[in-house]
Amino acid sequence: MRSALSTLELKRPRSVDEALDALHQSIAGRRLTPLAGGTDLFVYLNAGTFEGRRFLDLTRLSELSRIRLGPAGVRIGALATFRAIRTHKVLRGRFPALAAAAAEVGAWQIQSRATLAGNIANASPAGDSLPVLLAHDATVHVRSVRGARAIEFARLYRGYRDLDLAPDELITEIELPEPPKGAVPFFRKVGTRRAQSISKVVFCGLAAQGKGGALEHVRLAYGSVAPVPLRATRAEQALAGRKVSAAAAAAARKALAEDIAPIDDIRSDREYRMAVAGNVLEQFLRTLG
Ligand SMILES: Cc1cc2nc3c(=O)[nH]c(=O)nc-3n(C[C@H](O)[C@H](O)[C@H](O)COP(=O)(O)OP(=O)(O)OC[C@H]3O[C@@H](n4cnc5c(N)ncnc54)[C@H](O)[C@@H]3O)c2cc1C
Repeated sequence: MRSALSTLELKRPRSVDEALDALHQSIAGRRLTPLAGGTDLFVYLNAGTFEGRRFLDLTRLSELSRIRLGPAGVRIGALATFRAIRTHKVLRGRFPALAAAAAEVGAWQIQSRATLAGNIANASPAGDSLPVLLAHDATVHVRSVRGARAIEFARLYRGYRDLDLAPDELITEIELPEPPKGAVPFFRKVGTRRAQSISKVVFCGLAAQGKGGALEHVRLAYGSVAPVPLRATRAEQALAGRKVSAAAAAAARKALAEDIAPIDDIRSDREYRMAVAGNVLEQFLRTLG
């Protein structure tokens, strides 16, 4: 690590209130950076791309690790790790797309440390859990000394790596409502290889079928195809109310081209991402049809 640990300052609060106080007080001076699993922050420190030297270690805040399931859905503590998510039997049964995404974040070592809130706050458009949260209409609960706030996940990102989160706010919980009865979830990450790669395209679909097979509650959410993770709303509209068919799939694929704006970068190129985004959409439709 380029930055010797001894030059870093670590505050280790024992309660959320203590953490929020410390964060708030630090704003005027040398800011504290919340530190959860450290799987993003340590990479930036090691690369010398992160200037912060003061950290607020959240790991003692065990109340933020809880996963609470109820009839209306699930509330997942900010510090819940991907390992906790993928191994939680009930959660896995009720929100299989989230468990599938958790199982594809790095390898076991990373999953044992990396948290859901860290994935959200890191705000990479390639974050694997983010399309799942979009498809499930998630709400992000945040707190500061000024009070609590609930943010629709779909409105959290204002632009590339730009979050609607004040410097003294902490993410405390992520809430996913129970999907409509019969809704089918689907998750697919496409990377350079099957495991341990950053996604070229990451996708989560969710849809139910009503009378006569008409598609309802259609959610098509993507990562790595725009500056922020997004829902392909035009493609969703092209499918809503229709039965799964080759014509419906073709219409959705055409509309998708208006929804997403993939770029060429070191991991892939625009053309490949466009093709794959359409392919995973069709793969999802085949699981419904
Ligand atoms: C080898 C390796 C492989 C990886 N593979 C993947 C992958 O396949 N898919 C993927 O999506 N990611 C991957 N990552 C990235 C990383 O593991 C995830 O983004 C992870 O979820 C980050 O969580 P963390 O708890 O480690 O966050 P940290 O590194 O602790 O923090 C990340 C950011 O979130 C902020 N933060 C953390 N918690 C809170 C909170 N409660 N409130 C407000 N801000 C907060 C921090 O201040 C920081 O800005 C990989 C990383 C490594 C090193």
